Amino acid sequence: MNPSHAPCASTLIEQLPAAVLLIVRARVVFANPAALSLLQAQSPEDVIGREIYGFIHPLDASRILARVQRALRHPHTTNPPTEYRIYTCRRELRVIGMTSTSYTHQHEPALLASFIDLTERSAMEMRLRETEEQFQRMMHTMLDVFYRTDAEGITRYVCPAVQQVLGYSAEEIIGRPAADFYPHPEDRERLKQAILAQGFVRDFPGQMCRKDGQVIDISISSTVLFDEEGKFAGVEGIWRDITERRNLERELERRATTDELTGIANRRTILEQLTAAFERFARKHRPLVVCILDLDFFKRINDNYGHVVGDRLLKAVVRTVQHEIRAVDRFGRLGGEEFIVILEDTDRVAATHIAQRILERVRQTAFDLALAEPVHITLSIGATQAQPADTQPTQLLEHADSALYAAKEGGRDQLCWFEPVPAPAD
Ligand code: GH3
Ligand code: MG
Ligand code: MG
Repeated sequence: MNPSHAPCASTLIEQLPAAVLLIVRARVVFANPAALSLLQAQSPEDVIGREIYGFIHPLDASRILARVQRALRHPHTTNPPTEYRIYTCRRELRVIGMTSTSYTHQHEPALLASFIDLTERSAMEMRLRETEEQFQRMMHTMLDVFYRTDAEGITRYVCPAVQQVLGYSAEEIIGRPAADFYPHPEDRERLKQAILAQGFVRDFPGQMCRKDGQVIDISISSTVLFDEEGKFAGVEGIWRDITERRNLERELERRATTDELTGIANRRTILEQLTAAFERFARKHRPLVVCILDLDFFKRINDNYGHVVGDRLLKAVVRTVQHEIRAVDRFGRLGGEEFIVILEDTDRVAATHIAQRILERVRQTAFDLALAEPVHITLSIGATQAQPADTQPTQLLEHADSALYAAKEGGRDQLCWFEPVPAPAD
C-alpha cells in the first residue's frame, strides 16, 4: 500500500477494538473509545486525569502497582500480559487482561497499556463473584480496619468499616498520607521502622485522630510489602480501636498509683519515685532534698468533728501544699496524715524556702470544711539533704523522720533539718 494512504496511528488507535490507555504520573492522560466503553465512562472526563489506583481492586493493587513502578523505572520494556480486577466508573467489577509498555512521553516516563475485558469467562466470573462478595462483606462488617499504604506512606486502600471507627469514609482517607491521621506523626515513623526491622508487627500500640478530633488508641498488626524486585512497596495490615481497653488500663493504673482520698501519689508510688530520685542523685550528684510533712494535732480534728471532716481537711491541706510546690516536685501520701515531698536539683536554701512557704500557707489558711466556722491547722516538716554517705533511699526517710520528731518536739508548726554528724577526722 502507498504509505501516504495509510491511516495515521492515532486514528487507528481510536478505532482499535482493544482498550488503550496512556498513563503519566499514575494518571490517565489518554483513553481510546474502547477503553472508555470498557470502563463505563459517560464522558472522557470520567477517566482522563484520574489516578489509575482508583480503578484497581484492592486485592490486586500491590501486584499491579509493583508492575507499573518497575516498568516506569525501565523505559521501553514491555510488561507481559496479566489479569486483574478493576472497578469501572459505575463501580462494577471487571476482570481485564492487560499488557503495557513504558516509554517517554514529553520527557516524562509514561505507560501505554492495552487491555481487554475477560469478565465474561464464566468460571473465572463465578470464582470472582464469590471472593468479591466475601471480601466486601468482610470489609464492611469487620471491627478491625484493613489498610494498605504504598512506599511513600500514602493510603491506597482502607476498608469501609473505617467509617465506624474514625468517622472518615474510606474515600476521604484513600490517597492521603497515613501520617495525616496520627496525632503524633513521628509515631507513624516508629511503626514503619519496627515493621521494616522484623518484616511485621503484632499488637503495636499507637494513636489516631477521629474526624471529630477525638484521639483514639489503636493496636496495629501489619506486614511489609515488597515489589517484585524486593524493594519496599508499602505496608498492609489491620488495626483496631482499643480505646476502651486502654482507658480501663489507665484507670487501673491510676487507681494503683494514686491515693484514693487525696488523689496524689500513694505510698508505693512515692517511695518508688524516691528510689528513682535517689538513683539520679547517686549517679549525677545533683542536690536532693526529702521532706516529711505531718499535720499537727490532727487527732483532735477527728475527735472534735468526726472522721469525715478529718478526711475533708486532709484533702484541703493537700491542695494547699500542691499550690506551693513546683510541677517537677513529687508529692505523695505516706499514710494517715503524713506526706512526703521530694525536691530534686534543689539545695538546702531553696528547699528551706519552699518548706517555709508551705508552713506559712497552711498556717494562714482558714479551711472551709462546711462547718459553722473555718478550721485552722498547722504542719511540722522534717527535711534532709542527701549526702554522699547515704547509700539507701530509706536512709533519707529515717533522717527526715528524725528531723520531723525534732520539729514536733520543738513546738510544731516548724521546719527542722536533719544534721548529719561530721565524719571523725583521721
Ligand atoms: P502530732 O502533732 O503529734 O502529729 O499529733 P497528731 O494528732 O497529728 O498525731 P497522731 O499520730 O496522734 O494522730 C494521727 C491521727 O490521724 C490518728 C488517726 O485517726 C488520724 N488519721 C489517720 N489516717 C486518717 C484518715 O485517712 N482520715 C482521717 N480522718 N484521720 C486519719
Ligand atoms: Mg500528726
Ligand atoms: Mg503522724
